[in-house]
Amino acid sequence: MSGTAGTAICLLRCDLRAHDNQVGAPRVSVGPAPLVGRVRRDSPASRPAALTARSVFLQVLHWAQHNADFVIPLYCFDPRHYLGTHCYRLPKTGPHRLRFLLESVRDLRETLKKKGSTLVVRKGKPEDVVCDLITQLGSVTAVVFHEEATQEELDVEKGLCQVCRQHGVKIQTFWGSTLYHRDDLPFRPIDRLPDVYTHFRKGLESGAKVRPTLRMADQLKPLAPGLEEGSIPTMEDFGQKDPVDDPRTAFPCSGGETQALMRLQYYFWDTNLVASYKETRNGLVGMDYSTKFAPWLALGCISPRYIYEQIQKYERERTANESTYWVLFELLWRDYFRFVALKYGRRIFSLRGLQSKDIPWKKDLQLFSCWQEGKTGVPFVDANMRELSATGFMSNRGRQNVASFLTKDLGLDWRMGAEWFEYLLVDYDVCSNYGNWLYSAGIGNDPRDNRKFNMIKQGLDYDGNGDYVRLWVPELQGIKGADIHTPWALSSAALSQAGVTLGETYPQPVVTAPEWSRHIHRRPRRTVRSTCRGSRKRPTSLSKCQQWTAACQRRRN
Ligand code: FAD
Repeated sequence: MSGTAGTAICLLRCDLRAHDNQVGAPRVSVGPAPLVGRVRRDSPASRPAALTARSVFLQVLHWAQHNADFVIPLYCFDPRHYLGTHCYRLPKTGPHRLRFLLESVRDLRETLKKKGSTLVVRKGKPEDVVCDLITQLGSVTAVVFHEEATQEELDVEKGLCQVCRQHGVKIQTFWGSTLYHRDDLPFRPIDRLPDVYTHFRKGLESGAKVRPTLRMADQLKPLAPGLEEGSIPTMEDFGQKDPVDDPRTAFPCSGGETQALMRLQYYFWDTNLVASYKETRNGLVGMDYSTKFAPWLALGCISPRYIYEQIQKYERERTANESTYWVLFELLWRDYFRFVALKYGRRIFSLRGLQSKDIPWKKDLQLFSCWQEGKTGVPFVDANMRELSATGFMSNRGRQNVASFLTKDLGLDWRMGAEWFEYLLVDYDVCSNYGNWLYSAGIGNDPRDNRKFNMIKQGLDYDGNGDYVRLWVPELQGIKGADIHTPWALSSAALSQAGVTLGETYPQPVVTAPEWSRHIHRRPRRTVRSTCRGSRKRPTSLSKCQQWTAACQRRRN
């Protein structure tokens, strides 16, 4: 195509990286472009016959590099991402995530500059920005982007298709956000995706392959002449301030591909933490109990396929065990919720969920604000909620508990919790967030009916000595050991010795559940709990880990 190839606009969205800006079977439409939504998914027939095997692995930037004279990597700060959430009008993007995003955009610009290009940044809806660029430059021949899975993002894609059709510009889209490519799923069409994770995982593990990553070219094609790169906005431009750094945070990292790759280097190669992930992953305090890849994965600063390749390399060169397998096991949950979103569309946001269940959810704003602020009087819940507000992060164990508490103990509309997480989480990812909330609310992909976490038992099992609660609920610091989980069950003498007055220095519990009483005054378990126990992600048998380990050892030999 060179010679007459013109200019390609690469719209980057949740793929803010240069490495493995990986895509799968591209959907090409030349001239008047059909709407993305009209291209039948999962049908090999929807792929142009002319596509060669090689082009199947081309990537957004990489594709543009080979098909245009000028390439414009573009990021748009879409004003719709900074409005209110859908139901409860909470702010959509909180300060922790905004800062992380700005850092990621800055980092990508630096990386692209080293490759002779830059990241063009604009504030505006992508459809409008792209339309303006097409008109302004007059040389745009293609608009290239990764496809997303959820409604608002698909609407943007439709808008882009319309703009391109009006201007006779080619649309080139790719699928790249998941470990396994959408077109490689053994469940096709997508409505055949199992509703139970284990069936999904087994289906993939028994045949599907992860596509290899691609190396980005050392030099990128230049921007179209005369194009301004545009300034990267500041927190203040969005009416926000830099969040205060809290030394207690479990996620002190910055955004961007550079930091993401360094984190992997640290977690895998420098410390071997990955080799004990399965034993530590239910931790609550500090940076190292889990990978902390999620915030970078959410913005695409790191590719799941790159993580996969690094795990394989680690298993070949160091060790292959249940822990190394478990990281992939968890990454598959991420894939799963993305495919669930493709299957169910808007239903992942609906009150009745995937199961169309009528549950009389409450909308009690007072109870909700106790939960938001970490003032429910249930210390394990409050500690987690305060950590979230102060740092933008909460452990997976914490998330499962506070979600169960909101939906099962308080009976509040699950979307209140999902939207609060959407606002605050530094790793907010629409599919993982709504998928997990539906699951916790019992109207998603949990095969078990009426699963409910017991806040006291969970506190004792995962924070046996109460150190985590003490870290985030300092007004209870005077209560020693595990008693901190149930201050309302202490004698008034014990409370006064600890300097606690319930209802004054710390709230009375807004609710108590009958099943909690079995665990009050019980000593916590002595042993560090096996991470499989009580986890909803327990595999059906451990033999999978053993098989994986054996297979890896065979590969190494
Ligand atoms: P690790 O334990 O190191 O896991 C490795 C990776 O596996 C994670 O980075 C993540 O990509 C994936 N993963 C692990 N558990 C899950 C899971 N349950 N669902 C999907 N992917 C998973 N994760 C998000 O990335 N964004 C969200 O918005 C989000 N919202 C959640 C809401 C609720 C109510 C719950 C219960 C869980 C949510 N999770 C979400 C999943 C999980 O809690 C986080 O991915 C994890 O805690 C991030 O920390 P980590 O990267 O150290 O995870």
